[in-house]
Order: sequence, then C-alpha cells, then structure tokens
Amino acid sequence: MIRGLNSPWSDDKELPALFGSFNLVSPSAIGAINRGRIMQALYDNGPTSRVDLARLAGVNRTTVTGIVQPLIEEGLLIEGKAGRSGAQGGKPARPVYFDPAAPMLCAVLLLPGTIQTCLVSLTGEVAAHCHSTFNPRENLQAFTATLCATLAETLAQAKRPPFGIGIAAGGMIDSDKGEIVAVNLAPVLTGLPIVALLRERFCMPVVIDHHPRALLVGDRWFGPGRGLQNFAVIYTGHVLGGAFFIDGRVYRGLAGSGGELGHTVVQLDGRLCNCGRRGCWETIATLSWLREQAGAVGFDAPNTFDSARLVQEVAAGSQVAEELLDRYARNIAVGIANLQQTMSLNFYILHGDAAAGGELLAQRIKLHIEQFIMKRPNQEVVILANDYERGDMALRGAAGLIVSDLLQLAI
Ligand SMILES: [Zn+2]
Repeated sequence: MIRGLNSPWSDDKELPALFGSFNLVSPSAIGAINRGRIMQALYDNGPTSRVDLARLAGVNRTTVTGIVQPLIEEGLLIEGKAGRSGAQGGKPARPVYFDPAAPMLCAVLLLPGTIQTCLVSLTGEVAAHCHSTFNPRENLQAFTATLCATLAETLAQAKRPPFGIGIAAGGMIDSDKGEIVAVNLAPVLTGLPIVALLRERFCMPVVIDHHPRALLVGDRWFGPGRGLQNFAVIYTGHVLGGAFFIDGRVYRGLAGSGGELGHTVVQLDGRLCNCGRRGCWETIATLSWLREQAGAVGFDAPNTFDSARLVQEVAAGSQVAEELLDRYARNIAVGIANLQQTMSLNFYILHGDAAAGGELLAQRIKLHIEQFIMKRPNQEVVILANDYERGDMALRGAAGLIVSDLLQLAI
C-alpha cells in the first residue's frame, strides 16, 4: 500500500483510542466459554442428559463429558436419577442440572431510599432476604455503613461463599466503570464507585447494571425470556426505562447508557419532562400521567391510583375507567411501536406498574401497537405482563448479572 498524506494508514496520524481495537480468545477463555455454553443450555432446556447436550451442541459425548465432569466435581452440577432408556436401548440417560447445594449468588436492589439484599440459588430461588432504608440526601458514610451492614446480614446466612454480588440500581449507571453516575431522586449516590467499594469490603466479584437491564437478565435466566434470542423489557413506574436482548446478547450501549426509552420524544413540543425537555414518552406513560388523569376524571385518592386499580375499576364496569385504560394503553403502545418499527424484536415483557395491569392492559397495549405499526406477514408482536413477585424479579435479575459474569457469556 502506498502511504500518502490522505491515507488513513499514514504514519503520522494517531489512531483514536478505540479505533479497531479487538479481543482475542485465549485457550483458557475458550474453556470458560464452553462451560458457560453448557450452563446456558441447562438454563434454557432444564435438566438435560450428556447425550442430549452433545446433540444440541453438535459435538460428541466425550467433548461434553470433558466439560460437564469438572462442573460436577466442583459442586456446580449434579446428576439426577436415570430417566428413559437411551435411543438404542442402551444405558438410561442421567440428566445433569444445577446442584441445589452449589454456592449461591448475592443480589442487591438499590432504589432511592431502599436497599434490598438476598441470596439467589442458581435455579432462581430467593433466600436470606434483608431490607433497609436510607435517607437519599444523607451523608455518604451513613449510606455505605447501612449498605454494608445489610449485605453482611444476608451473607452471614450463606452456607458457602457466594459466587459474587450483583447490583441492580435505578438512575444513571456506568456498568463498565462500576459507578453510579447520577440518581436524581437520591443525590447521596451520585458518583459512588460502588463496585470497587464492595469488592474491597467483601472480597468477591461485584457487578452493577441499570435496574431495567437487571430485569431483562432476570427474565433471560429465570423468567419468560428463557431461550429467547430477541426480546425487550419495558419498565414503567415513576420513570420509564427499557432494556434489549438482541441476537442472543444484552445490548448495553456506550458504558451502559442504552435503554433511556423514557426520554425518547413521542410528541414534539409536548409536555415538560423531569429531564427539562418536552414531549418525552415518560410524560404520558408513567404513574404521574395516570394519576393526574385519574384525578381529572373524578376517581377518589388519585395520588395512589395505579394500573392495578385501573383494571379493577374496569372489571367493576366503570366506563370512565375503560376509556382511561384505553388512552393509557395507547400512550404506552406508541413507544413500543416505535421500538418495534426500529428493531423488530417482537417480544416485549412489561414490568412495574404496566405489568400490574395484567393481561387486560397488556392486550390493549398490543391492540394499539398493531394500529401504529406497518403489518408484516408472519410477524406477531407479543406483549407479556410479568408482575410475578415484583421485587423478587429485580433481585433475581441482579443475581442474573453474576450468572452472566460467571458464565463469561458477555450477556
Ligand atoms: Zn425526558
């Protein structure tokens, strides 16, 4: 190649820091990836025999045994009772699955004013749940003391040292640096290097991610997202956020900044948003909108009104509630429709207040999405409300962050 002044390969041109950087996979990392893939297959398929794992992976049984056997010896997996006979009438296949006595995952859910901690088994059972509160505007020392004490209470109940601590947090998170960038509703957390802090204090791996993304990971490992290659989570409450699972991977965006769906503009020059701009999706599809409208159409106690109450009122035959439900569903649908048009993920799991509206609200949202989007043949949009034990879903998600880290799957 001739190197000229205008060539991008010119010697005197400095490359931007990230230009063309890439990672190679070392032999030890390949081992970790293979272990991770076996464990992912068990998450997706439930207890599975070595023969079936080999068939699913397209390799021979010896290869699978070479990966599975050390996992059994480490106490991560266990062999179950023999099931049906082998296909050729050979030895009955013994399924392998996660050992209930395996180390657990430690989860932290950090929202403005509250800290929840627990242990989660590899199969998603929650134990040793602890809860504490903090003043979102108090000093940092008081907050870290409360956080560490709550975590220590949970960790003291672990029979074996957990694999690590996964944190799901509201606000703006830098998941690469392990820092809380800013939380409008809890200024005490702003700039907190929480991952480094807990790593030093508890001497185990620690990871953090944005609350909706933890919900997504929880759905992927322990919920309705099992086995899916493409789906999104939409969380609504006092704020609106989302997370995407695209082609088998969690999509994070630069430093984990993806998923700020609440501040995508759905109405030019629309209502004023908390972020200071106008017309954000969050201004028409969260609890503050619903409560304002509930008050305007005459419901009592509008300040505590939510989607659960809305569907109850509809079920009781209220025409006013029916009309409000339809408008609310349409407001939630517009943002999902834009997402569907952009990414065609097709499968959307609702969490938070929208999920509390259950099947009725989910189906109405779907109806409006279908009116907003261009129809394509053989493409159905699924809207699923996942209101299952609300808080626990986020804690399972926080634990799921450690599963992802553990399995080195980059998800
Ligand atoms: Zn906004």
